[in-house]
Amino acid sequence: MLNLVVLTGAGVSAESGIPTFRGKEGLWKNFKPEELATPEAFRKNPKLVWEWYDWRRQLISKAEPNKAHKLLAQLNAVIITQNVDGLHQRAGTKKVIELHGNIWRVRCTSCGKEYENYEVPLREIPPKCKFCNGLLRPAVVWFGESLPMDALEEAERLAKSCEVFLVVGTSGVVYPAGLLPFVAKEHGAKVVEINPESTPISEIADIVIREKASVGVEKFIQTMLNL
Ligand code: NAD
Ligand code: ZN
Repeated sequence: MLNLVVLTGAGVSAESGIPTFRGKEGLWKNFKPEELATPEAFRKNPKLVWEWYDWRRQLISKAEPNKAHKLLAQLNAVIITQNVDGLHQRAGTKKVIELHGNIWRVRCTSCGKEYENYEVPLREIPPKCKFCNGLLRPAVVWFGESLPMDALEEAERLAKSCEVFLVVGTSGVVYPAGLLPFVAKEHGAKVVEINPESTPISEIADIVIREKASVGVEKFIQTMLNL
């Protein structure tokens, strides 16, 4: 069995009805995600940022893992994801490395405690810490913030040691996650990309499957079986 590692982005959840960041349907009240998913935006207007997260949490709470999540789970590979929606775990993947956090976790800006919060819709916006009543923020990584060190290190180690690095549904333009396919390639892995559109990763990919995630993952599995 090949040593396979998977990297996913928002595109893998598109067929679950969760908009990607860069698609038109991802817009909320005409704001671009780059204007909302930043520490500056949160400092300026925590209520506005939380209203956007509340909207996304509502969408995600109604969503189900799609065929791509389910087929990927059957591969028994580690999944490194930029998604914050938790759908890989719900599809049964045992080992998921979340590079950008999880939308169902909150962190207190006063006492620093982090915990799960599944309230949909939120009763109070912005929500307050259950320990100290401080202002909560989503425990996700915003533009300009660093990734959790342990998750990033593990992702890099896996990229360096795998034989096949499968990339599904990411634009590859958010760093450092977007660099992982390049790290894998440099260390000898075959890179396979599944994306209906071309990305910077397409240029170094050994195999490009120009399909949406569900069809693409099915084709990938067929190819692997025929090897
Ligand atoms: P992105 O929006 O930048 O790119 C999405 C990519 O998916 C594009 O390349 C697009 O061509 C492709 N795509 C669209 N529909 C697809 C489909 N049906 N099948 C396969 N591919 C499809 O998203 P990104 O690359 O993940 O990076 C941006 C950031 O967005 C990340 O930090 C992530 O945390 C965040 N994000 C997460 C979610 C989520 O958790 N579901 C949703 C939106 C954004
Ligand atoms: Zn607190």
